[in-house]
Amino acid sequence: MNSKELPNLAFDQKHIWHPYTSAVNPLPCYEVERAEGVMLELTDGRQLIDGMSSWWAAIHGYNHPHLNTAATQQLSKMSHVMFGGLTHAPAIDLCRKLVDMTPAGLERVFLADSGSVAVEVAMKMAVQYWACQGSPEKHRFISPRNGYHGDTFAAMSVCDPVNGMHSLFNSVLSTQLFAPAPQTRFDQPWNEDDIAPLIELIIAHKHEVAALIIEPIVQGAGGMRIYHPEYLKRCRQLCDEHNILLICDEIATGFGRTGKLFACDHAHISPDIMCLGKALTGGYLTLAATLCSEDVALGVCAGDPGVFMHGPTYMGNPLACSVAIASIELIEKNHWPAQVSEIETVLKQNLLALKSHPAVQDTRVLGAIGVVECKQAVNVAKLQKIFVEQGVWIRPFGKLIYIMPPFIIEPAQLIRLIDAIKLGLDAIQGSAKC
Ligand SMILES: *Cc1c(COP(=O)(O)O)cnc(C)c1O
Repeated sequence: MNSKELPNLAFDQKHIWHPYTSAVNPLPCYEVERAEGVMLELTDGRQLIDGMSSWWAAIHGYNHPHLNTAATQQLSKMSHVMFGGLTHAPAIDLCRKLVDMTPAGLERVFLADSGSVAVEVAMKMAVQYWACQGSPEKHRFISPRNGYHGDTFAAMSVCDPVNGMHSLFNSVLSTQLFAPAPQTRFDQPWNEDDIAPLIELIIAHKHEVAALIIEPIVQGAGGMRIYHPEYLKRCRQLCDEHNILLICDEIATGFGRTGKLFACDHAHISPDIMCLGKALTGGYLTLAATLCSEDVALGVCAGDPGVFMHGPTYMGNPLACSVAIASIELIEKNHWPAQVSEIETVLKQNLLALKSHPAVQDTRVLGAIGVVECKQAVNVAKLQKIFVEQGVWIRPFGKLIYIMPPFIIEPAQLIRLIDAIKLGLDAIQGSAKC
């Protein structure tokens, strides 16, 4: 059959790459027709409660009138103009808000086009900063294991070297320095031993290290681990003490997800460089930002070449900036703390208990994030099918079944997500290995 005549899903399977899937034997896909609030509607009419916020992004839900209006109003003026030599109110107003709302000291904003690019930009800033201070040997990065920072090359080099999905590229990646992942859980008593290996690593390598890069409080795609704020506090102190920059990757955690506006706020720290993405546009358009301190910005531009050498074609895209402003306006209405806290309560009451399920290794909750870690890697296709049949959208990976729903989800809908997970776990337990 001619490709043009293939039905949609068959064409998709034959011609289109999806994230982290095989071109030969791809996982099944479901075709979405529209989305509204917390619901995804498939082309066959089935309605799914969304447990993923389209990967941490759609915090206000889909098809939101305020975000729609922002996009259409901006569209009637201009969807894009180059950012080299030109500027515009959408970028300016967005950056005003970002400088204002992020932890103290982050004064300069670089608008990037995706989270991975924001991480590349942060790492380039750190390397260029030290080169311009006359310390070009400080070009390596320290990161805790179980991290995830994106899929481009520099970002890959600081992802977990084992589970980071990138071991194939080891020969072309810069070799970075990895500390053990933080072990003390968010609500456990702090254990001083937890920081000892990082101290050792920093002392041994500080002469060659540009920055420590870390996901604050919640390690996302590298294992969905939630750690003690004291660890992050100590990272800040160690970086200050040993002349290393601190990069906090808030791409997943930013904009309220963990119960604080930014996860850094749990530890009351400001990084030297911060990466934002995902929920920045409320899940509408791809946009990310790298913020840095005045010291970093001046340092980067102090020596030769005197400029920061990065400039994406779609930098500061007005359409994306306008929607981001609208998304932040919704955050400023300040309904999110109560919404996230209610989600956290329901998750703690209902999802944590799944720990006693025989298929489950561990359960964890923080803010609007719920994690079920299974004893074995799960069969994604089979679980996904069960979830869709239950009327929910949850996408597991590895051993992890996790949810981070839009903040507007109702408790009854959240319970349906958790019930579906329970049913999925029963199926896992029922078969030898799901
Ligand atoms: C998703 C993510 C990235 C990469 O963002 P993309 O927009 O997918 O490139 C980087 N860091 C963290 C912590 C993330 O969760």
